[in-house]
Order: sequence, then C-alpha cells, then structure tokens
Amino acid sequence: MHKKQTLVEKIIDMIRKRPMSLSDIIFELELDRKTKTMMLDYILKIERIAKQKGWKFIVYAAECKNCGFQFKKRIKPPSKCPRCKSQRIMEQRYYLKI
Ligand SMILES: [Zn+2]
Repeated sequence: MHKKQTLVEKIIDMIRKRPMSLSDIIFELELDRKTKTMMLDYILKIERIAKQKGWKFIVYAAECKNCGFQFKKRIKPPSKCPRCKSQRIMEQRYYLKI
C-alpha cells in the first residue's frame, strides 16, 4: 500500500534538493501564506530530526534587499533591518545535506 507522505517528509525532500525559504516552500506546496508560522514549526522540527539523524542542516542568512545588511544566521525570519529599518528582507533559506 502506498503511504501518503507527511508534510515534514515532503519539506525534507524539497530542501535536500535546493536551499529554500519559507515562502518558497509555501509556494511549492500551494499553501496559504498564513501558514508561515506553522511552517516555521515544521522547519524547527526538521532541524531536530536532522540533529538526531546526523544530517547537516544549513541555514543561509537573510539579507536586507535595501542596504545589503547580512543578518546573523538564525532559524526565525527577521522582520526588519536593524541598519536601515527596511522591511524588504530576503528570507533565509534552509538546506539539508543528507
Ligand atoms: Zn537594510
């Protein structure tokens, strides 16, 4: 019998192929943008799974589109730039090396 893939499994499959932001993932899965907070929970879950399994979970830092400021690497997306206060932020992307 074919087992349906869970959302977490789907995301793992996606981010092991190429680095993706939360918006990329939401777009590709054709989900509502309102699910962003929920998706972040999935990302945190995947980070824990990766740790347990010894996979490499890579976060590419977010960047300000206005002034080019590079954010510190962290899981949660920043809301605005500390340097120029712009809210045009290129989201961080997640990548999984299995
Ligand atoms: Zn900026």
